[in-house]
Amino acid sequence: MKILVLNAGSSSVKYQLFEMNDNQVLASGLIEKIGEMDSLAKIKYCDERGCEAKIERVGNIKNHDDALAIISDLLIETKVIASLDDLDGVGHRVVQGGSLFSKPALVDAHVIEGIERLIPLAPLHNPGNLAGIKVSLEKSPSVPQVAVFDTAFHATLPQYAYLYALPYKLFEEANVRRYGFHGTSHHFIVKEAAKTLQKPLNELNAITLHLGNGASMCAVKNGKSIDTTMGLTPLEGLIMGTRSGDIDPAILFYLARTQGYTIDTLDTLLNKESGLKGICGNNDMREIGKMAQEGDEKAKLALEMFNYRIKKYIGAYSAILGRVDCIIFTGGIGENDSDVRRDSCQGLSNLGIEIDESVNNQRCSSITYISTTSSPVKVLVIPTNEELEIALQTKEVIEAL
Ligand code: ADP
Repeated sequence: MKILVLNAGSSSVKYQLFEMNDNQVLASGLIEKIGEMDSLAKIKYCDERGCEAKIERVGNIKNHDDALAIISDLLIETKVIASLDDLDGVGHRVVQGGSLFSKPALVDAHVIEGIERLIPLAPLHNPGNLAGIKVSLEKSPSVPQVAVFDTAFHATLPQYAYLYALPYKLFEEANVRRYGFHGTSHHFIVKEAAKTLQKPLNELNAITLHLGNGASMCAVKNGKSIDTTMGLTPLEGLIMGTRSGDIDPAILFYLARTQGYTIDTLDTLLNKESGLKGICGNNDMREIGKMAQEGDEKAKLALEMFNYRIKKYIGAYSAILGRVDCIIFTGGIGENDSDVRRDSCQGLSNLGIEIDESVNNQRCSSITYISTTSSPVKVLVIPTNEELEIALQTKEVIEAL
């Protein structure tokens, strides 16, 4: 079974083609700078001799229609498929599923209309996701298309965890509540943890940490998300590359009243100019690590703040879970930055969390236990694979047809 996974943004489309018999990636690539004169189309695939090969093309790709046409041309030209009819399904990443979608959905007019209705909740993401779905449906109408939502894994949050203490009618009339994001990644790593710990998923309690440019944590009880740090939007919770995470909301009124900020400049401030970048001027964790080693005080402070916020949530999630079987790190930072893993878990032996420094310092390119053998809570690094998770969920929907 061949499944194409599309992650369409406003000006880019990432794609990966999977052979689902063995979850192997047949080809992957990216279309960038859609709408510009120097758009870029890339594909990585396995050639007829079994060697890894790449093609890159530069030229104007006007819109998502052209982008999908190029993906299909590249897949056919490289003989990965003979035609789009070879596909058994297409899985689409959709960022915001709101309260409408608690699981993956086979795309039809009703689903398209639902994703459209959710645009006000995710104005930067849902329109691009939707453009990908519409064009793909048009180009291969006989291939089942499945929408997989970043929010769906968090549909199991209890109401007392997802509701904000605002007037209840804002929830009823304006859909204001915690939705949570990175759900595909949290779901994938928790399933992987259940396999490696040889524990049924529905008996596993975990704290999952997806730490990339965007960062979120999730409390998983009996395999289900019961709380997560991101909220109505991906701005809440942890300190991120350029996002503030949790702040006192009254800071916004104060800045508007005394510093002349507007809604738009506050939006930019909190989403693009805050977080690690706001504190030390850089949002790339590798560079911040180097700056801190060279004695940059702001970089050291940014790291301290980043790790402190994570530690607070580990404490909070340990409290709501009661029993924690494992803590899982993933994402660009979680998979690669041993200092962040060590410092955010330091001093938590009272919660049963003990990191083995020597293992933690090794490269973790596959599932790795970084806790001591006697640590009651297992600490794991699990490389995430959101594309594979979208493909697996797409396969499940198609097989149930
Ligand atoms: P995105 O949220 O954009 O998908 P990623 O999951 O790719 O982000 O993570 C990007 C972050 O991971 C950046 O801050 C980057 O510096 C960090 N990162 C990547 N590799 C390493 C590494 N070897 N050591 C420390 N940080 C790393």
